[in-house]
Amino acid sequence: MNDCLFCKIVSGEIPSNKIYEDEHTFAFEDIDPKAPTHVLVIPKKHLSGLKEATASDAEIIGRCHLTAAQIARQRKIEDGYRTVLNVGPKSGQSVFHLHVHLLGGRDLRWPPG
Ligand code: 5GP
Ligand code: ZN
Repeated sequence: MNDCLFCKIVSGEIPSNKIYEDEHTFAFEDIDPKAPTHVLVIPKKHLSGLKEATASDAEIIGRCHLTAAQIARQRKIEDGYRTVLNVGPKSGQSVFHLHVHLLGGRDLRWPPG
């Protein structure tokens, strides 16, 4: 998508601190981390968010979560991490390219605010 911040991060037009990349997914450090590990995992192909997703997006949504799990394993935070999809403005979604937040490296409270 032409004017999408995260599409520009995937293409390299906007720099990011890249953690991982494969054929389908891209992961980078959140610019404003809320935990010692705060990584964003996104599909390379533009997808606005979970509520816009259809059955044909099921595989890529799963792949994003598996990439998050792989990064959590590498970072040795498997004693407790969280994957979060903010959906819609009232949840705090501010970037409308689907992204999985991977948060960990500290105690995580429940329920989140
Ligand atoms: P949301 O609020 O949409 O669920 O999450 C968007 C996330 O993107 C936020 O945690 C925010 O800090 C992060 N973010 C926004 N702009 C940039 C940017 O230019 N680079 C990086 N690395 N992260 C960003
Ligand atoms: Zn995009």
